[in-house]
Amino acid sequence: MSHTLGNLFILTAPSGAGKSSLIKALLEKHQSNNAHNNEMQVSVSHTTRAPRPGEVDGIHYHFVDRAEFEALIKQDAFFEWAEVFGNYYGTSKIVIEQTLRQGIDVFLDIDWQGARQVKAQIPDTATVFVAPPSKQELQSRLTKRGQDSAEVIAQRMEKAVSEISHYHEFDYIVVNDNFAAALAELDAIVITRRLRKEKQIIRHQQLFENLLGGV
Ligand code: 5GP
Repeated sequence: MSHTLGNLFILTAPSGAGKSSLIKALLEKHQSNNAHNNEMQVSVSHTTRAPRPGEVDGIHYHFVDRAEFEALIKQDAFFEWAEVFGNYYGTSKIVIEQTLRQGIDVFLDIDWQGARQVKAQIPDTATVFVAPPSKQELQSRLTKRGQDSAEVIAQRMEKAVSEISHYHEFDYIVVNDNFAAALAELDAIVITRRLRKEKQIIRHQQLFENLLGGV
């Protein structure tokens, strides 16, 4: 898959780091630049967790039960899968492969376990870890809703710290202190990956044939 025009990106972060907002803003930016050409897509994972209010099947996740998920594992349908906080999550192979072949960049919003599996299969994947700017800020972002018990907040903190402990396994690290700055950094990673020789040779094959052809 390394010779596809599309680039594969993984974004991993503890909850409270602002990952979803960054992905959303990045998608919007790239869509408005190139309205006729969808150049970036976020993969929709399968999960066994229940939908949260406002979540739509097929858009936020493909919601399935444990038996369906286990059948998909047996069919080798997943590129990677992991159990995260008691639920299964997985990325389906076929959509990723087709999308990358069409020259569209794919973003995977997955945890460190999934990132490790994908990187082992496709070393060319750009893995990005998004970190919050401080422990206090993380705590305040996880407490924001104000209705949760101290115990629930402490559990969220513990999960966040366990995700953060894997930060050094990633190719890039973005600290989301100032949102606009973090978005620009993420965008710089995307653009740099697109400009690599391996991709440009495929993208501009005609140009170079033309430039080097007889006059
Ligand atoms: P949530 O339930 O809050 O949507 O997601 C919980 C965690 O599961 C997040 O860290 C998210 O990145 C991760 N996750 C979501 N989809 C996948 C997936 O397909 N594979 C893996 N390994 N993790 C996922």
